[in-house]
Amino acid sequence: MNSIKIHKKQPTFLELLNTISGWRDTENIFLFNCNVMASPVQLVLLNVETMHYLQVMWSLRSDLNENQRDFIMCSIASWVQSVYESKDGISSSLAVHIFTVNISKLLSQVARTYEASADLPEEAISEWNEFFSQTVYNLLLHIYVQLAESLMSSDVSRSQEHLLAWMGEAVTCCPKDQLMSLQLESTGAESSPTCQIETILHHFCPMLLSRVYCIQIAAYHILNKIINDLHSLESSKVSTVSLTEDICVKKLENLNTVDSEPNLAAEATAAKYPHFEDDDENGRQPNEILMETLMKSWKGIETHLDPSESIDKQFAPSHCTLGYLLTWKLQLHFLRTASSELRADYLRYLETLNLITVLLEDIFSLIPETLVSAYQCRKDELSIANIAFKKKLSCTSAPSSDKLLQNVACLMFEEALETIPATVRQWWRKQDRAFASFIDNFTKLFISPVLCNKEIQNILSLDMNLENIVIRARSTSREIVAVYTMDDVSIEMVIALPDNYPLGSISVRSEQRKGISNSISKKWLLQLNLFLQHQNGNIMDGLRLWKRNIDKKFEGVEECTICCCVVHGTNFQLPKIQCKICRKKFHSICLYKWFNESQNSSCPLCRTLF
Ligand SMILES: [Zn+2]
Ligand SMILES: [Zn+2]
Repeated sequence: MNSIKIHKKQPTFLELLNTISGWRDTENIFLFNCNVMASPVQLVLLNVETMHYLQVMWSLRSDLNENQRDFIMCSIASWVQSVYESKDGISSSLAVHIFTVNISKLLSQVARTYEASADLPEEAISEWNEFFSQTVYNLLLHIYVQLAESLMSSDVSRSQEHLLAWMGEAVTCCPKDQLMSLQLESTGAESSPTCQIETILHHFCPMLLSRVYCIQIAAYHILNKIINDLHSLESSKVSTVSLTEDICVKKLENLNTVDSEPNLAAEATAAKYPHFEDDDENGRQPNEILMETLMKSWKGIETHLDPSESIDKQFAPSHCTLGYLLTWKLQLHFLRTASSELRADYLRYLETLNLITVLLEDIFSLIPETLVSAYQCRKDELSIANIAFKKKLSCTSAPSSDKLLQNVACLMFEEALETIPATVRQWWRKQDRAFASFIDNFTKLFISPVLCNKEIQNILSLDMNLENIVIRARSTSREIVAVYTMDDVSIEMVIALPDNYPLGSISVRSEQRKGISNSISKKWLLQLNLFLQHQNGNIMDGLRLWKRNIDKKFEGVEECTICCCVVHGTNFQLPKIQCKICRKKFHSICLYKWFNESQNSSCPLCRTLF
């Protein structure tokens, strides 16, 4: 009775798009390149509805023809131009607010598909990158930065937060190339930025410490895109010791958690044998602006703490703690993308200041023990690891604040284990039994399955093997097999990852060897084990180091008499110091340690004084 009549000539969804795009020429409907505040509300709402419709159409993008796609792109660009022309009303006018939120939604949906190059023809992608995205992001980021910076120290209303969240979602899709060509005003910071990367750092690092969740997350995502480029910036600088170190030292003096005795001993040794101190004994400071932000975030937390109490971040406002964790997250990314040698230098700097120990303690002050028991009875390892905490932090969906910090803390521990496994392992071994066992269970349950899988996939996806080494992976038994061949010599090493990888010991055994004596094969196994345990990198980094060691040995470089290696396991140096009497060679770091332990500066072999 109530059957709906379907006209045969009713347009399809796709045909409707052609009709709408035709309005451009005949009707005065689209609010393109104009001030939205001057337009009637009905028209604003019609435009917003059209944005919704285009969002739906974009999900069918593989069915769109070139003209239709073009219409959507041009509309986005013209609407964003309108946001720019209406920017004075962005905080006060409801029309501008609604308009901006919805164009941001459409833009982020479209930009994400371009980012993933999903279902789009090649020419559409290059057109987007070369023409549209530049205009669109230049305008939108300008407005965003201005708005976010104007709200740095004030509280924001719910509606401002809503606006910032969606704008944040859109600007974080900005491709890195566009970010690098973005024209932002100088920040008026004390040290004037010398290049684009520094300008970006000066604008977005302070936003990490904003009081508004979505501003912090957006700043994190933007900065995360340029972290790789910081390395070229750093290499052009001379390593300098700056103010931040004083702040750290002062801060650490106040902490009673710091065990100061080893430092005193080291200082005494350094004073006694100054000529054996390495030039880079204290390491190298990571990017200065990032370090300053870290110190500021720390100060932000500290002002909320009772100095007599232990450092428990849960009493500080959550935005302070989040800012601190996000800054560290960037710092870890910075370390992860550095070369092995530089990573070791940066780590030495951070460890001298005890910063990493403090970070690891802070992380676990945010992870409740109940998290482990809640999941412990469940099977299917990898999926548990993937659902226990969210991997992607989004501007628009903030979990409740205690869950948020817990989530970020879990993520941070995973990243710490991936980036600096040897340092974390060392710290873990110093903890008391109950705490160490909690960390162990946490790692087994949530992190090891993911990291083992990553290691195996990393090996499987390697299209090029190291010279003289063939590497395979056995994913079911979590084993990595490396066969080293040189002339008539060959040895097969099997690396088995423990179920709490990378916390526990990695076992290395040899199943086959040819032309190598038992004692040499034992020594090589021991060395590989040493490199896998002591360097802050993945299995592949460890294998590379081991191979370099053997290559150097074949080249005739003499090994260090103390650690029996040619290339040192943590600072990658060759044995440089030679005893004048027995002619044996040593790594300076090994000899320094020997002097320190024996309280004596004589050769470990012939006892001659150095
Ligand atoms: Zn040595
Ligand atoms: Zn000697």
